[in-house]
Amino acid sequence: MTGYVPGEQPKPNTTIIKLNTNENPYPPSPDAIVALQNIQGEWLRRYPDPYANEFRQAVSAALGVPLDWIIVGNGSDDILNVIIRACAEPKRNVVYPVPTYVLYRTLTAMQPAETIEIPYGDDYHLPIADLIATNGAVTFIASPNSPSGHVVAIDELRQLATALTGVLVIDEAYVDFAEGSALPLVQEFENVIVTRTLSKGYSLAGLRLGFGIAQPSLLSGLFKVKDSYNIDAIANAVGAAAMRDQAYKNECAAKVKASRTKLAIDLKQLGFHLWESHANFLLAQPPQGNAEQIYLALKERGILVRYFKQAGLSDKLRISVGTDEQNQLLVEALLPLV
Ligand SMILES: *Cc1c(COP(=O)(O)O)cnc(C)c1O
Repeated sequence: MTGYVPGEQPKPNTTIIKLNTNENPYPPSPDAIVALQNIQGEWLRRYPDPYANEFRQAVSAALGVPLDWIIVGNGSDDILNVIIRACAEPKRNVVYPVPTYVLYRTLTAMQPAETIEIPYGDDYHLPIADLIATNGAVTFIASPNSPSGHVVAIDELRQLATALTGVLVIDEAYVDFAEGSALPLVQEFENVIVTRTLSKGYSLAGLRLGFGIAQPSLLSGLFKVKDSYNIDAIANAVGAAAMRDQAYKNECAAKVKASRTKLAIDLKQLGFHLWESHANFLLAQPPQGNAEQIYLALKERGILVRYFKQAGLSDKLRISVGTDEQNQLLVEALLPLV
């Protein structure tokens, strides 16, 4: 199988401007840092709570969903993996529109199941009829999607959930930078799970914490196959503090969204073609289509953006939205390159 290739991670304390893996440019909530400082050695001596109930309670309060509708994972990647492990087997395939998050393919490659990739239509129109006809054991829809940044309308997701007999996973890793959410569908359908992460909106990619929301009947199957201690005691406590501080998260997300608007204007002025983004990154096509060249030239100048050498993306760059200062340095570095 082909392994997943994560975005490059420079050594700590280097002066790289890192706009390649959609991390939040702002620090985590001060409350999360206090929680980290208050970790007791005794909590680490013991095995952690297998269900991360402190964190679940914080999610329950923040989102208004019952505690037993929440499954917690070591990053939302862990939840995605658990779903595939629980649901996919020979002839019970994993289906998703492409381009999207490449990890769906990697996680499925580890199981005795196939992936069926259905291309998005022009301007990322959801191939809804083909997705329904394929009727996967698991269907993944990232919304907002990466790398396009587009959102799938809740009515289309409802159509899918109604027609599919398998599990519909709505991957909302970037929801904190969007206007709406498909979370209400969890109430309507027992085959829908919405996954979220603390890596992007909450500035905690290094902590590894994510969660899924679904009806208990679906979660009971997932609990059977998850690692018993998949969330460590530190993530449980620190993540709970971050989740309780919704105001801070919303404030950072608002700053990122304002910077996204500004950066989009600047890139358009440089001649880039852009897709409307509801996430903390922009998919940008340079005027000459020479994305790889620009990616390498930026890297030489200490600015990392994401380049995907694959069909439909090889002439585009995915650029995470940084602080206004970082974005300005990016735009200045791009000037002589386009
Ligand atoms: C970043 C990302 C995730 C993974 O988040 P973690 O919680 O850090 O594992 C999941 N899905 C998509 C689409 C992402 O971009």
